Amino acid sequence: MSRRTKLYEGKAKILYEGPEPGTIIQYFKDDATAFNAEKKGTINGKGVINNRISEHVFTRLAHIGIPTHFIRRLNMREQLIRQVDIIPLEVVVRNVAAGSISKRLGIEEGEPLPHTLIEYYYKDDALGDPLVSEEHIACFNWASNDEMHDISSMAIRINDFMCGMFAAIDIRLVDFKLEFGRLYDGDFSRVILADEISPDGCRLWDMTTGEKLDKDRFRRDLGGEEEAYREVARRLGLLNAEDNGPGEVFDLSHARSRLRGPPPLKK
Ligand code: UDP
Repeated sequence: MSRRTKLYEGKAKILYEGPEPGTIIQYFKDDATAFNAEKKGTINGKGVINNRISEHVFTRLAHIGIPTHFIRRLNMREQLIRQVDIIPLEVVVRNVAAGSISKRLGIEEGEPLPHTLIEYYYKDDALGDPLVSEEHIACFNWASNDEMHDISSMAIRINDFMCGMFAAIDIRLVDFKLEFGRLYDGDFSRVILADEISPDGCRLWDMTTGEKLDKDRFRRDLGGEEEAYREVARRLGLLNAEDNGPGEVFDLSHARSRLRGPPPLKK
């Protein structure tokens, strides 16, 4: 295979030059980091699972009219995406208090928020991705008012869709992080959804048991992260029900009937 040009290596992904201008290949690694990369490790098979989960979510979001950078999955760990200029904001949508908002405002984890909150963090590792307001975003011209309008309305639509998608498989969508990018068409640009949506950037809690099925297992040393990521993929119908692996730690009894679905029709 010919050597490809690496454009960027991040904490969980590598970007390579794509086969055509305006395209990029996004490679999903097993590496995991937390607390602004102070904690580092690997989650076996995470890249493969996140590639599949993100493909699934982005494809379904495209079906409801959300423009995304996703073109197609190429193989187990890679997908072809559109090249965009990433807007330097992490857009966090919260339904239930957890993580940094619980610490910052003293709200108990698991407390449902009175209504959905959108927060913006300025993407800058050296500064530890600080929380910023729309005033800061306008003041420093990180995104225009029109772009912020598009970003917030897409974030709400994505949240509504994903809450339903996960509720259908007995998972509570507590919070998640989105990134957006500018796609240029001549002098014009429009904002589209970029990056990935996977258990790396979402808090996903089993609705029945409260079990965490996301990167908090790694952040908080709970163990069982591989199984948790696989469990999300399996409930989304992306893995075979038989593919439990020897280290299965979750009680799947409540999920099995959903996973199996109706028996196959006899020929
Ligand atoms: N998140 C993320 N990348 C970040 C920070 C947060 O994907 O750099 C996600 C995180 O997985 C969670 C949500 O955004 O689903 C809210 O994270 P929070 O602000 O609570 O930060 P944390 O507790 O991770 O410090």
